[in-house]
This record gives sequence, C-alpha cells and structure tokens, in this order.
Amino acid sequence: MCADFVYTIRSMSTNNRTHAINAIAEYIPATPSATAAPDTSMETYGTDVFGEKEIRAFLPKTTARKLLATINEGKPLDPSIADDVAHAMKDWALSKGATHFTHWFQPLTGGTAEKHDAFLEPTGPAQAVQKFCGKNLIGGEADASSFPSGGLRSTFEARGYTSWDPTSPAFIKRHANGATLCIPTVFCSYTGEALDSKTPLLRSVQALTKATRRLLSHFGLPEEHVSVTLGAEQEYFLVDRRFYLQRPDLLQTGRTVFGAAPAKHQQLDDHYYGAIRPRILKFMNEVEESLWKLGIPAKTRHNEVAPAQFELAPMFEDLNLAVDHNMLVMETLRRTAERNGLVCLLHEKPFEGVNGSGKHCNWSIAYGGRNLLNPGSNPKENAIFLTVLSAVIRAIDLHADLLRATTAGAGNDHRLGANEAPPAIISIFLGDELTAVMREIETGKAEKASGRAKLKIGVDTLPPLPADTTDRNRTSPFAFTGNKFEFRAPGSSHNCAMNQMVLNTIVAESMDAISDKVEAMPGDFNVNLQKLLQRLIRAHKRVLFSGDGYSGDWPKEAAKRGLPNLPDTPSAIAPFGVRANQDIFVRYGVLTRVEMESRLEIAREDYERRIRIEGGVALDIARAMVRPVVADEFSKLATAISLAKKDGLKVGVTGLKALSLKLGAGLDDLHVKCEKLDKALAKGGSAEQIAASADLRRTVDALEHLVDDARWPLPKYREMLFVY
Ligand code: ADP
Ligand code: MG
Repeated sequence: MCADFVYTIRSMSTNNRTHAINAIAEYIPATPSATAAPDTSMETYGTDVFGEKEIRAFLPKTTARKLLATINEGKPLDPSIADDVAHAMKDWALSKGATHFTHWFQPLTGGTAEKHDAFLEPTGPAQAVQKFCGKNLIGGEADASSFPSGGLRSTFEARGYTSWDPTSPAFIKRHANGATLCIPTVFCSYTGEALDSKTPLLRSVQALTKATRRLLSHFGLPEEHVSVTLGAEQEYFLVDRRFYLQRPDLLQTGRTVFGAAPAKHQQLDDHYYGAIRPRILKFMNEVEESLWKLGIPAKTRHNEVAPAQFELAPMFEDLNLAVDHNMLVMETLRRTAERNGLVCLLHEKPFEGVNGSGKHCNWSIAYGGRNLLNPGSNPKENAIFLTVLSAVIRAIDLHADLLRATTAGAGNDHRLGANEAPPAIISIFLGDELTAVMREIETGKAEKASGRAKLKIGVDTLPPLPADTTDRNRTSPFAFTGNKFEFRAPGSSHNCAMNQMVLNTIVAESMDAISDKVEAMPGDFNVNLQKLLQRLIRAHKRVLFSGDGYSGDWPKEAAKRGLPNLPDTPSAIAPFGVRANQDIFVRYGVLTRVEMESRLEIAREDYERRIRIEGGVALDIARAMVRPVVADEFSKLATAISLAKKDGLKVGVTGLKALSLKLGAGLDDLHVKCEKLDKALAKGGSAEQIAASADLRRTVDALEHLVDDARWPLPKYREMLFVY
C-alpha cells in the first residue's frame, strides 16, 4: 500500500461517494523518521524574496542605499536607479530558475492578477538573450477591459497601467517545472483612477501617518516613522478533493447550497485546538515551507471550531506587506491543498449550521517603533495611549457603517450573526479594566474596586493592564486585545486592504478632529486633554459593549443606542454612496468620489451575480441530480406496493405506503420549490432569489434523510466534514 497519498481516478458508478471514502481509507500517514527531520535552521527563510540581503548582494552600493531608503524610510524613488535594480532583480530571479516576470496586482475582483512576460529579447534570426530593463520594472500596461471597474474606465480606454510598489519586495513564485519573478504593483486607469485595492491602501497609510505625526506633536514628540501594522489570522476549511469534485455547488460557488446537518458536527467542541491529523499536518508543513521561503512569518496553526476547519496566523508586519502576504497565504493554501488531494475552501460559510470562516485583522500603529496601543509605563505614554484609544473609539462610533461596509459580501452575509460569528452590528470591546479606566476619565471619579487614585491625564501612570483580562470575548466584532484592535468581522476570502483602508482613514479623521480641538484650546495641554477625552468618551461610549454579542438582546439594546445594524450586503454597502461619507475619503485623498461610486457599483454587481449563480446552481442540482433519484425511488416503491397488494401480502405494505407518501410529498414539494426559484431567477430580485433558494434547500435537505443513502448523489456533510 502507498505510504503517501495517491489520487486514484475510478470509473463512474452508482455511488462515487463510496469510492471516494474507500480511497481515502487507503491513506496511511508516513511514519515519522529521523532523516526527514524538518529544517529548523530557518536558513531558507526569505530565500524567494528580493529582500535587503539580495539588494545588497546584487546591486552597486550606492544604488542599494538609495533603494533601501525608499523601502525603509519611505523616501521617493530615484528613477535613475531603475535600470540597475531591474538588472539585479533579473540576475537574482534567473539564479532562482525564473523564466518570466510579472507585475503582480490586486484588481477589484478581490483576488490577485498576473500576466507573464518572458525575459526574452530576440537579437537576430534564431538568436535571443534574456533581458529585463528599468522600464519593464517601473511600469506596465495591461488590458483592463475584463477587470471590474464599476464604470471607472470607459470602454474605449481599455488600458490599465501597473506601477511598481518598491515597498513590497519582489518574490519568486514556483510551479512544477519553473518559476516566475513577481513584482508587486499598483493598478490604475489611464486617467490615474485606482483600479485596485493597493492604491487606496497606500494612500490611507499616508493619511494616517500625517494625522499621527500631527497628534503626537502636541505631546512634544519629534517626527518619527509611522508604521501601521497588521496581523491577519486566516481561517479555512479543507475537504477531500474527491468529495469536492462531486459537489457542483462547491465547485461553482465555494459553498454547499444543500446538505442536511449531520447528527454530530461541532456540538462536542472536540475539534478546536484538537490534535491535528497527520494528513493535515503534512499539508500545513508544506504550506509553511512555501510561506517561509517567501518571507511570510506563518507562526501559528491549529484546528478551528468547526470540523475540517483550521487557522493560520502569521506574525504581524507592516500593513502593505501584510496585505500582500495574506493574498499569498490564501493562494499557497489553495495550491498546497491541491498537491495533497485536498481542496481549501476560503468561502465564509461553506457549510450551513457550522461555524463560518473569518479573517481576524489585528491592527495597530507604531511611532518610531513604539506601539501606540500599548498602555505605557509612564504618564506621558499613557496620555498618548488613551488619546489614540479615544480617537479609535470616536472613529468607530461615527463611522461604524463604513467599517461594516468593508465586510459586506454574499459569502459573509451567511456568516455574520450566525454560529459563533460576530454580529453585523459594529461595537467595541475594551475589557473590564480598560472600561473602568474610561469610566473614571468620563466621570472624573476613581472607582473603588480599581485601587487607583483619581486618574489625571499626564500625571498618573496606568497600572499595567494584564493582557489576558483584555480579551477572550470572542463575540465582539472589534475588540481591544491588549496592544492592538482585532477586527473579526471581515470574511475569510476578503482582501484585508479594503477594511484597513477605511479604518486608517476614519482614525486619521478622528486624530485630526482631536488635534483641531487641542490646537484651539488655550492653556495647559494636559488639563485640556483631560477635558477633551472626557467629552469624547461621553459622546461615543455607546459604541462600547462588553456583553455577549451573540445574545438576542444585543440587537435590541444596540437599536436603543442608535448603533446601525446592517444585516445584509445591499444595506451594508449603501453608506459608500452617501455624500458625507465620500467627503471624508476625498478630504484625505484616499478615494475620489468616482472611485467610491465605482467600488459601490462593483460590490453591488458582485453580490447580485453571486446570488444568481447560487440560485442557478441550486436549481440545476435539484432538478437534474436530486429529482431523478427521488422520482426513481418513489416509482420503485409504488411498484412494490402494487405488487405486494396483488400478492395479498399482509406485512410491509404499511411501511412502504408511509415512506411512499413522504417521498411523494417531497417530490411534489421539490417541483413547487423549483418552479418558484426558476421564476425568481427569471425576475431577478436578489431577496426573492435568496428566499426561494432557502426554501428549496429545506425540501432537498429533508429528502436527504429519506432517500436511500447509497443513491444520494451529493457527498454528505458527515463525509466532507469528517472523512479526510
Ligand atoms: P490571539 O488573537 O489568538 O490571542 P495573538 O494575540 O497572539 O493571538 O495575535 C494574533 C495576531 O495579532 C497575530 O497575527 C499577531 O502577530 C498580531 N499582533 C500582535 N501584535 C500586533 C500589533 N502590534 N499590530 C498588529 N498585529 C499584532
Ligand atoms: Mg485572534
């Protein structure tokens, strides 16, 4: 028998599910052996990245210095070095086995895009050399007509332009018999409008940098490098590829539109942090090996709450890089799964009734290397910490709807507010200790239990806040977790750039609002700040919520507080079209009005298309896969009943009749529900299609429990979630 996984293709037969199960049963994990010990030296870490070491090794000293100043200090790029950098990059890439290069960018599809060009330059008949010059490095032209632009790019101007982002290093992407040099780029239209998610992200970092420096200047701090940081925890499901290929819904939509809940799923809480199965560990090791080569600090891996659900968490990094890295994490998970006979599902809700997958975006700001969300060890640091914290609270309270908009999408609609996912209401969890501190500032009175004296900004030192009391309320969509905020609402398939861009912009706006006030107040800075923070907390404390976000009472309480509850994509994305909201992004140079409208349009289109596809897939499966099986079983039963009657059988007829009644009713029901969905699809309203699909699902899922297991055409939840 094979020691490792072998993917066998079997002939189609009556029950492909059984074949899949039998083949999976043949999997025998390899015996751990001393010779196959993993490389723990980290010697290969970052070797597929054109990083600082490579820059120094492949570039003349002065060019290297100039390039590193751009990368590390944000100095403008000196265009005269482009040719040198291009040659060095090419030599390095060739040494890694690359034959092609590509500008790697993030169009508004939510994914990444690449178009490969060979390092090829014909020099005469049947003669060629490998070439790559500064022009190829700095800019590129791509036919943008097939990327979503939300009306941004007029049809006669189909060109899109890619432009090198030197702050995210070039890297090598490998395939079985070669490799490609990938150059991270931004993507814009002929008239300069951003057609991607990276451009606005970079602009938002600039806006937040400026606002942070201005705010901190009031504390007498000199100008320092501002670094916005992100650690994106990625959740995902793995299913065996053989089941996947038998589920047209998974193949086409990434989620199962049918599937009865198995008796056992996640009720026993026995998967979370459980021992990881050998086949999955092998997969995870391969993922990490690839990611480490790309300099992606994948650090934590574990089983998640739902069966067959897992998580990968990297160490946090500079935001722009972390976003690129998360895109590569998702791609690496998918590709490595394929090599292991698995499929990685990044959809927010592949299986109804069990946990969905999110992407927890841990966010903070560092100033000259010091984390501003770290409660400090002296009065000045604390005043800064409390001011930044208040700025974030104000931002989230005023613009909860904008942050919510960034988490919208057909997939996440199934997740938010269901099975252990944060609700669609955006609130902030601060933890007991910090909530008490905020109350003390607000009331100006010391709380008895805290043992603190009356808190005076710029005078007192906060007692250290123990990190482990600050979190562990997993029900909050936006939680302060000791030294960072963790935004838990984004979906597992989303590009983090969108929500981070909005977060940066609204916090920049809040910081500036505080700076405006401080600058207008005469007198002692600390006294003024104390008053200002008091007012801020009073005005915005309604967004603070430490209770159970999953409870049924919370939406009622939130409504009383006036917090927006935008339960689905159409309502959630609408705030992007509101003029006052657009003004903020325009003022901070992050998005123009047209760019915002285009994003709104793309989100709307994407949503409607996905709902339509899901409806179409459901209808097709119900009519062409489920109905024939039910009809066949029903007619066999009917024949059996009439034969039994003819033979005058005294037993069995009752049972046969009861079952045929149920199946017959199910068959009729199936017919009615299919017609209804068909009509809804023809009419086109998303809400009606969703309702009709859900209705059809109830019928099909009920039939799954009735029809002969051997004949059910779709792999069942108990198989996909437990057999791997
Ligand atoms: P958990 O959320 O499971 O408690 P951790 O708190 O250890 O896990 O970290 C979760 C993520 O937060 C990790 O990706 C980590 O690197 C990231 N993180 C830690 N500090 C910061 C920070 N200052 N800025 C952004 N992300 C951070
Ligand atoms: Mg976390």
